[in-house]
Amino acid sequence: MQHLKNYINGELIVPVSASYLDNYCPSTGKVYSHIPDSDERDVELAYAAAKSAFESWSLTPKEKRSQYLLRIAALIEKNLDRLALAESTDNGKPLKLAKTIDIPRAAANFHFYGTAILHHASTAHSMEGTAINYTLHQPVGVAGCISPWNLPLYLFSWKIAPALAAGCTVVAKPSEITPMTAFLLSEICIEAGLPAGVLNIVHGLGAKVGNAIVSHKDIPLISFTGGTATGKHIASVAAPMFKKLSLELGGKNPNIIFADCDYEKMLSTTMLSSFANQGQICLCGSRIFVERKIYDKFRTDFVKKTKALVIGDPLNEKTKIGAVVSKPHMEKILSYLELAKKEGGAILCGGKQVHLSGEFADGYFLEPAVVEGLSFDCRTNQEEIFGPVVTITPFDTEEEALMMANSTMYGLASILWTQDLTRAHRMANNIHAGIVWINCWLLRDLRTPFGGVKASGVGREGGFEALDFFTEPKNVCIKL
Ligand code: NAD
Repeated sequence: MQHLKNYINGELIVPVSASYLDNYCPSTGKVYSHIPDSDERDVELAYAAAKSAFESWSLTPKEKRSQYLLRIAALIEKNLDRLALAESTDNGKPLKLAKTIDIPRAAANFHFYGTAILHHASTAHSMEGTAINYTLHQPVGVAGCISPWNLPLYLFSWKIAPALAAGCTVVAKPSEITPMTAFLLSEICIEAGLPAGVLNIVHGLGAKVGNAIVSHKDIPLISFTGGTATGKHIASVAAPMFKKLSLELGGKNPNIIFADCDYEKMLSTTMLSSFANQGQICLCGSRIFVERKIYDKFRTDFVKKTKALVIGDPLNEKTKIGAVVSKPHMEKILSYLELAKKEGGAILCGGKQVHLSGEFADGYFLEPAVVEGLSFDCRTNQEEIFGPVVTITPFDTEEEALMMANSTMYGLASILWTQDLTRAHRMANNIHAGIVWINCWLLRDLRTPFGGVKASGVGREGGFEALDFFTEPKNVCIKL
């Protein structure tokens, strides 16, 4: 069985502890590889490599840094099938999704930042004959990047690519639940000839490796994507050390549907925004609010379509719902369905574990669930479940929809369906969320800032903002 290795100072090496964690395949429930159980000693080695590579990498002309990133992007594209298979096996998601979204987006991230850095301008202000004041953007140093399991390579590269482009060197930790594509990325970086120490990938647990990165006194910047509770803990460690911090956290996103929407388009997109990746996308719309005039029709059609979703082998092209990521996560989702019932909700469909046959008999498969009859402020409607579970709730007025949409502690994304342009703009202005999708979902130009408000995060990733995050602006004022 394969033992993954850490990628430190340009080499694949075993963890200092020489001990390993089991890596489970969610669709079979079986251990299929082993992950380094690294600790602070491995982080120290990674830091030392990143530190010694920093001076030369930060002084490498951006055209050259760009070439490395574009080479990595090209190699990800070349290895699309292999990476997609690894991601599907590791995460349980349908292979088709990995092939069409996750892996192409990971390549796009390297491509985007490999080209964006070439156009990252400094500003200069002329003080009318008195002085010229200009701003330099200097890479911060060794960046700590920590990512979650739901879109493993896509979110890992979303941090690493801008950090490297900006001239930082990196100590990165992928989720211990889905380490495989990060391991394959280390092989790709070696093939791309990335100089030793520029990127270091340390595998292992959040409490050991993650914590050692966050609390490292010489890592001045942390870019984290994951749960809100973990983000809160990270902030409590990093803030007193005055680290630069970007936190992309949880969500409980509203999907608000008005009666005047393009119904068929809304229905097919709502199927995706509810259940894509088994509902394990931070941007999924898990609370659906429907104008009462079309509530009954929506309820009937949505439940019918949900029941028809094919659950099964992630490698099968027809599969729409693969396995959820782990046994504890499956149990967490099932416990929320019990809570929904206790809170007075009616499960209109789904909500049970599916026991498939053959090699998938012990896989973590769940029927997608639709729940109705809950108050907007109950726990099921307030807490992030992060699985194939949505609630549906009718509303009568725009004000009521807005009040319910804004009622959670989260503010990551939101979805609006209406043909009324004025209302769409009014609602977009009033919704508390970092992103408002109108008549679409998951559509985004990589140049725009990405992130949430309230408990969904601090700071913005994406676009030129990410290059700004990994650099420190220095103001220079020269007297004429
Ligand atoms: P998680 O917070 O459990 O883990 C995320 C990462 O943090 C993992 O690599 C983990 O090992 C590490 N970690 C855990 N404890 C740590 C600690 N004490 N110090 C440092 N690192 C630590 O999250 P998860 O379960 O992997 O991911 C799911 C969550 O991520 C959901 O809440 C989801 O909404 C969120 N998410 C947010 C976005 C976004 O862009 N806002 C994107 C994807 C996922």
